[in-house]
Amino acid sequence: MNRPFVYLIGAGPGDPGLITVRGRECLERCDVVLYDYLANHRLLEYAPPHAELIYAGKVGGAHNREQGQINDLIVAKANEGKVVARLKGGDPFVFGRGGEECEALVAAGIPFEIVPGVTAGIGVAAYAGIPLTHRDVTTSVAFVTGHEHPDKATSEIDWEKLSLGSGTVVFYMGVKNLPQITANLMAHGRKPETPVALVRWGTRPEQEVLTGTLADISAKARKVSFKPPAITIVGEVVRLRDSFRWFDNRPLSGKGILVTRSADQAGEFAALLREKGGTVHECPTIRIVPPDDSSQLDGAIALLPGFDWLILTSVNAVRHFFLRLASCGLDSRAIGRCRVAAVGPKTAAALQSYGITPDLVPADYKAEGVVAAFRNMEMTGKKILYPRADRARELIPAELTALGAEVVAPVAYCNVLPDAIPAEILEALENKRIHCATFTASSTVRNLAELAGENRLLHLLEGVVIAAIGPITAASCRELGLEVHLEPETYTLEAMTQAIIHHFTS
Ligand code: SAH
Repeated sequence: MNRPFVYLIGAGPGDPGLITVRGRECLERCDVVLYDYLANHRLLEYAPPHAELIYAGKVGGAHNREQGQINDLIVAKANEGKVVARLKGGDPFVFGRGGEECEALVAAGIPFEIVPGVTAGIGVAAYAGIPLTHRDVTTSVAFVTGHEHPDKATSEIDWEKLSLGSGTVVFYMGVKNLPQITANLMAHGRKPETPVALVRWGTRPEQEVLTGTLADISAKARKVSFKPPAITIVGEVVRLRDSFRWFDNRPLSGKGILVTRSADQAGEFAALLREKGGTVHECPTIRIVPPDDSSQLDGAIALLPGFDWLILTSVNAVRHFFLRLASCGLDSRAIGRCRVAAVGPKTAAALQSYGITPDLVPADYKAEGVVAAFRNMEMTGKKILYPRADRARELIPAELTALGAEVVAPVAYCNVLPDAIPAEILEALENKRIHCATFTASSTVRNLAELAGENRLLHLLEGVVIAAIGPITAASCRELGLEVHLEPETYTLEAMTQAIIHHFTS
């Protein structure tokens, strides 16, 4: 049996980039992750595939498990000889009950390590553009719970010292008690005009900030039914947000964007959109798998030295072609004198990663571009290998054959339908939290329709801006009854992102 070990890891306040390097390392080597409501669930991707993922957080305000049960579970899992990662929002020792978990580990004699995290008070303030201290404004800051232990008869907070002793006061868990908190601060000498900021889901794309003063913030919060989780920042530093705001005023802030690519390709597009402030909802509509039978492709690979051109029209084609090459015991050298054409800069970059610089990258990133480029060449009798998707258009083989070439087009990868649209995506669509749906291939929109049902698709996407990467994809959208609002001028993810930004900012 392996030795039990527990890492108490601070996940940071929400933005998954704010976990520490050490925290990520520990996640990467664990067998079990016990994670919280406030820890960004995207961090679970760092856990190894075999790791058991256990949710130990809150559901709708009620604790899913009592703290005692959580402590018992951590101890029990560790005692199975497992490395347990206890992933907690923010920092484990700041209002995180990490102390209680530590006590349980000490009592059980289980070794542990504590990995600090960026606590919400610090991280959220930064993303709200509020420096907690500033030489010219205040020299001290206090972190206070706004939610005292329920069975405490009287407040343990010394309101007088707090009101006058600390320049900036940051309350955790203070939304429900906001009226009492503000009243206490004012009753103990803090000026009613002191600025206050409430920051909800700080550091996440959905971050919301409400500002006011000690005198009016409670009423303002009630009016918009401001909900937890939120940090309350009290002090003159809050005024600096007016000039330091940087995160929640980016071009796509507050916009929900549906990304429908395959799971392994969504990352790059999602990153571009997030960079601009968008809230990305990933709904993979395609799973890319190798064909059941690779004998066609293997046959072509065996004849590689006899081909004049190898045409690869997507990153998937590149990946699966080289995977198959490797399965046949070969590598890039097998391409030999055969020249290589790549459609689009991403495909070209994927080829570069295998040490191949394409001889031809057509200016037009579509199958038509390839055909146009070959039209200027003598193609009679030329042998062309075109490893393709199972549902690829027939354009390239048909047109190049018409030019006199001999085209071999084996299936290198297949697009298959995922099981269903994830529940959280349906919920976001139903509640109109998705403002723009993006389609980067005909199959993405067709598959979404197949998963949703055609009529349901129209209902779900009612009022949603539809962005299609190119004319073929746009035509597929229209065939399904969707109106296409955005079509970038070039068929790239960058241009698509620009078109979305332009739409939402002009
Ligand atoms: N250990 C955590 C705090 C847990 S207490 C930390 O160090 O951050 C839970 C409270 O943290 C919430 O009620 C809220 O006040 C605050 N909080 C955590 N994440 C937050 C976020 N992303 N935005 C705003 N408040 C957050």
